[in-house]
Amino acid sequence: MIRLFNEFVQDAVNAEDKEEYRFSWIFLILIVVSTVTSLVDYLTGYIMLFWVTLCFALLCALDYALCRVSKRGVRLSSWLFGVELIALFTFFIYSGFPEGVSIIWICVLPACSLFLYRRRFAVPITAVMFAIIIFFMWTPWGYNMLRFHYSDSLRIRFPLIYLTFFLIALLLESIRQGLYKEVKRTKIEYEYLYYHDDLTGAINRRGFNDLVERTLSDEKVERVTLLVLDIDHFKTINDTYGHLKGDVILKELSDFLKKNTSAPISRWGGEEFAILATDDSLNEKNVNKLLRQIESRIFDKGDKRINLTVSIGVAYSDRNVDPIALFRHADRCLYDAKSKGRNLAKFCYINK
Ligand code: GH3
Ligand code: MG
Ligand code: MG
Repeated sequence: MIRLFNEFVQDAVNAEDKEEYRFSWIFLILIVVSTVTSLVDYLTGYIMLFWVTLCFALLCALDYALCRVSKRGVRLSSWLFGVELIALFTFFIYSGFPEGVSIIWICVLPACSLFLYRRRFAVPITAVMFAIIIFFMWTPWGYNMLRFHYSDSLRIRFPLIYLTFFLIALLLESIRQGLYKEVKRTKIEYEYLYYHDDLTGAINRRGFNDLVERTLSDEKVERVTLLVLDIDHFKTINDTYGHLKGDVILKELSDFLKKNTSAPISRWGGEEFAILATDDSLNEKNVNKLLRQIESRIFDKGDKRINLTVSIGVAYSDRNVDPIALFRHADRCLYDAKSKGRNLAKFCYINK
C-alpha cells in the first residue's frame, strides 16, 4: 500500500509531461470513490443517486481502459471525461444536492479539472460549470426547471463558495506550475554544469567518459576514433602572457576545434582536449590538416599576436575495445608526438 502511494506521489510529481498517469490515477480514485458512494446511496435509499453514481463509476472505468490503450486513448478519455464532469455537475445542481454533502463534490470538481486539464482547458470547463450554476440559480428559466428549489441564501452563497474554491485551486495550480518550471530549468542548468567545462563550454571529463561508454556500447557504431590534443609549452605561454591570456587561448582553441570538427569536443584536462568520432572525419589526412591550421592561426587577436602548436595522439579501433585501453593508446601516441619534437600527430591502430 505504501509502495502504491509512493508510486502515486511520484507519478503526480512527474505528471506534467505524462498525461496518461494524471488521468489514469484520477480515474482509478474516482472508480473506487463513486463505487463506494453508490453502495452507500443504495443502502440509504437514494436510488436515483445510486444509479447516477454507478453510471459515473462505469464511465470512469471506460475512461481508465481507454487511457491505458494508447496516446490517442488518453486524448479521447480526456475529452469524454470533460463532458462527464459537466454532466455530473449539471445533475447535482438540477437534482438539488448542493443542499447536502454533495456540495463538497461540486466544489472539488474545479480543483479536479485544474489538476487534470491544467489552466488552459480547466478555466473554460470551470467557466461552463459556473454558467450552469448561474443559469439554474439566478435565471427564471433555469430556476423553474429545477426539481428542488434552493433557499435564497444558498442561491447567493453557492456561486460564491464555488468561485472561492476555484480561485484557491487556481492559485495553488499556478504556484505548482511556477515551481515545476523552476525545477525543470534548474535541472537543465544543473545537467549542463555537470557535463560541461566552465571556461570553454566544451564537455568536461565526466561527460566525455559517459559519452565514450555510451558510444562503445552502441551497437550501431562500428569504429571509433579517439583523438587527444595537448598544447605545446603552454606553461611558457602562461608565463609570458599571464594566466588570463592563457584562459582566452584555451577558449579560442576550444571554439576553433568545435568549428573545425564534426565530433564532440571535450576539455579533458588543463590544456588537453579530447575528441571522439564514430566516422572517418578524424582520418590521418584531416588530423594533419588540423595541426597545420592551428600552427598558422593567430590566437588572441586583441592586442597580442600569439602563435601556438599542439601535439596530437590518435587511436583508431573497432567498437569492441576497452575504454581504458583506447585512452592508453591515444595517450601513448600523444607522448610519442611530444618526444619526437612536438607539433606532430601520431596514430595507432587497435584491433586492426
Ligand atoms: P608540453 O609541451 O610538454 O605539454 O608543455 P606544457 O608546458 O604545455 O606542459 P604541462 O602539462 O607541464 O603544462 C600545462 C600547463 O597548463 C600548466 C598550467 O599552468 C596550464 N594550465 C592548466 N590549466 C589551465 C587553465 O585553466 N588556464 C590556464 N591559463 N592555464 C592552465
Ligand atoms: Mg598537458
Ligand atoms: Mg602541454
